[in-house]
Amino acid sequence: MNQYNTKCLIIGSGPAGYTAAIYASRANLSPILYSGQQPGGQLTITTEVENFPGYPEGVTGPQLMDDLRRQAEKFGADLRSGIVTDVDFSARPYKVTVDNGDTIAAETIIIATGASAKYLGLPDEVKYNGLGVSACATCDGFFYRKRVVAVVGGGDTACEEALYLSNLASKVYMIVRKDYLRASQVMQKRVFDKENIEVLFNTNTVGLFGEEFVEGAHLVENKGTDKERLFDIAIDGFFLAIGHKPNTDIFRGHINLDEAGYIVLEGPTTATNIPGVFAAGDVADTRYRQAISAAGTGCRAALDVEKFLAEES
Ligand code: NDP
Repeated sequence: MNQYNTKCLIIGSGPAGYTAAIYASRANLSPILYSGQQPGGQLTITTEVENFPGYPEGVTGPQLMDDLRRQAEKFGADLRSGIVTDVDFSARPYKVTVDNGDTIAAETIIIATGASAKYLGLPDEVKYNGLGVSACATCDGFFYRKRVVAVVGGGDTACEEALYLSNLASKVYMIVRKDYLRASQVMQKRVFDKENIEVLFNTNTVGLFGEEFVEGAHLVENKGTDKERLFDIAIDGFFLAIGHKPNTDIFRGHINLDEAGYIVLEGPTTATNIPGVFAAGDVADTRYRQAISAAGTGCRAALDVEKFLAEES
């Protein structure tokens, strides 16, 4: 168990964390970064990334994250594997404990722990992950041009994803467990107006099938009633849109979170309600959730840290 001091601690290793590390290193802040539960973040479970500027031929998610990691390393960021298990924001320098027992005394902190898409919990989601199962239509929808896909969920995200996919795919099913959509009226209208979207109400997914890639889904309608009906649909892609969970459990009670657990930013910067603690990427973003927008806020958080420390000295 060791104790370290740093001017800037970055928690998380997605596009936000690594970009913050690149900027903070170049500003001579010698940041320490802990990579967390899923080193490289959500992009490491994506196959091809075609919308990150600078890669005209596309790049795989793991490769993109490796490039970002190497760029941060090149400028001297101290990149460590480890999961932060506890924080103490009661007095500066703030105290952070890592799972190997090490503690860090940090003058400033950038929280970039991201968010995780929720899954139904079916073994087939794991079996076909990257082989037809996705939780990001903007990332993967392009691969389903003129094909048939299904989107699970009835909220605004599901409607948005279904609408996005309906402009690419030949047909989109929405699999909705209740007999209504939870989404806003305007989104519902757009979905109902779209000819190639079919909403399957009162329907749950029981499994997926296919040789190597997803070829269809086993569904159940009116589950647990006398009208229960099992049926299959043929699909090439299965998109989860049942919400995201921000990775903020360890910060609960230490920092302002909104009802859904996202970190609340103060004003137009990346500042949180704790002086010297900043947040970047999906952990504070309920709206955009893109790799490039996360990278952008990582840059902003590092600049905010630099300014914060400069104003103190
Ligand atoms: P929501 O929590 O609003 O909706 C989740 C949807 O997934 C619901 O239809 C829910 O069903 C369904 N669901 C949850 N768990 C399961 C499950 N195990 N099996 C089947 N279905 C399930 O999440 P969103 O991501 O859609 O939205 C989050 C927030 O972000 C909302 O406040 C939303 O309004 C906002 N948002 C706004 C946008 C905009 O304004 N353009 C775009 C996207 C999001 P049920 O209804 O039965 O609980």
